[in-house]
Amino acid sequence: MTLTDPGPYHDASGYYEAKERDENDPLAPFRHRFVHSDPGLIYLDGNSLGRLPVAAVETIEEVSNRQWGDRLIRSWNEGWWDMPTRVGDLLAPLLGASPGEVIISDSTTVNLYKLATAALASCPGDRNRIVTDDLNFPSDAYVLDSVARRFGGELEIVASDGINGPIDRLTEAIDDRTALVSLSHTTFKSGYTYDLGQVTELAHGAGARMLWDCSHSVGSVPIDLDACDADLAVGCTYKYLNGGPGSPAFLYVREDLQDVLENPIAGWWGHSRPFSFDLAFVPMEGIRRFQTGTMPILSLAPIEAGVSLVLEAGIDAVREKSMALSEYLISQAREHLEPLWFEVASPTDPERRGSHVAISHEMAWPITRAMTERANVIPDFRTPDSIRLGLSPLYTSFVDVHTAVQRIVAIIKSKVHTDFVDDTATVT
Ligand SMILES: *Cc1c(COP(=O)(O)O)cnc(C)c1O
Repeated sequence: MTLTDPGPYHDASGYYEAKERDENDPLAPFRHRFVHSDPGLIYLDGNSLGRLPVAAVETIEEVSNRQWGDRLIRSWNEGWWDMPTRVGDLLAPLLGASPGEVIISDSTTVNLYKLATAALASCPGDRNRIVTDDLNFPSDAYVLDSVARRFGGELEIVASDGINGPIDRLTEAIDDRTALVSLSHTTFKSGYTYDLGQVTELAHGAGARMLWDCSHSVGSVPIDLDACDADLAVGCTYKYLNGGPGSPAFLYVREDLQDVLENPIAGWWGHSRPFSFDLAFVPMEGIRRFQTGTMPILSLAPIEAGVSLVLEAGIDAVREKSMALSEYLISQAREHLEPLWFEVASPTDPERRGSHVAISHEMAWPITRAMTERANVIPDFRTPDSIRLGLSPLYTSFVDVHTAVQRIVAIIKSKVHTDFVDDTATVT
């Protein structure tokens, strides 16, 4: 049984309302700038792996066939060497950063390690604790814990209610032993979005540095690192920036800290004269010193296409649509899903919410599998009971949201999810 056709549960008047919203959506034309090889697929996982931009296909061909195939090693001097800073500068406005403050480098996890270590190394020895919350991405917590222990300190994980950032408890936890506060700007499970200025000020008030992970914000929520005087930031390029699977991450170091902090994984790409092949390390001036080794050009090049699309649409317009989509999804969930024992597990205030909405249900995992296998809707599952619905404003439509909710209703009413209770998967 498949559930992709409008069935007995189809809400026709709701459909026309959604269609009208799409007709009035100024960002609707951006949908066609992405590859849609299956027009019937409703893809609600752009917060985990964004869609393929049409322009990126051209970039990939150009980089592989012409730059690698024809030009070979000459390409390093024809644009490859400067690509990490060039794409970093392109991305800077989406972070509220200035040119020269952002570089594409390694993965988010590795960048977090580099910047957290640099921050702790710059503190006096008795200031060696790191504060985070229990909404943070576990990989971040692993890194922060290992860094804190290396400096003889520890990671304090402040408990939340599972949805909202625990501001009061963070305020209590941050003190004169705190070297670093590190949080996800938008948290990966509930989608809670911190007030960047408020928390940065909290950290600074106690003499600690602030390191933001913007993976789930960048490209969907405006970020103002410079204006908030944030110290450090990292984040992914393969989520709302649509950079491609495993595309390298970015790191931000506020300009005045670049020559104060030391890259703990010093490598030749951060050396002031990499081709002098000196055995003594002399860091390059500025943000480039935070590079380590040779960058994966085939994965780096397509990021430019993804970032350019967000810049072309304008981050404020993207945010406006994102908020409209998530408000709409929550209203649909209240009306159609809550009676079926779903709960909305994201913040209710759109200002404090990123671009995905989590709904929880006891049978979340088999429902997720049924959505993918029988209803042609791709969400993702986060243990133990969350289904995340990612709303990527450049290509998610209101009709997508409406139809996805109707298909979930059809799954529950027809009980097809019970076919999937014993399913397993490596990547969820
Ligand atoms: C997606 C995500 C990551 C992933 O890190 P990788 O090094 O790319 O695997 C890390 N932190 C946060 C907050 C994320 O949302």
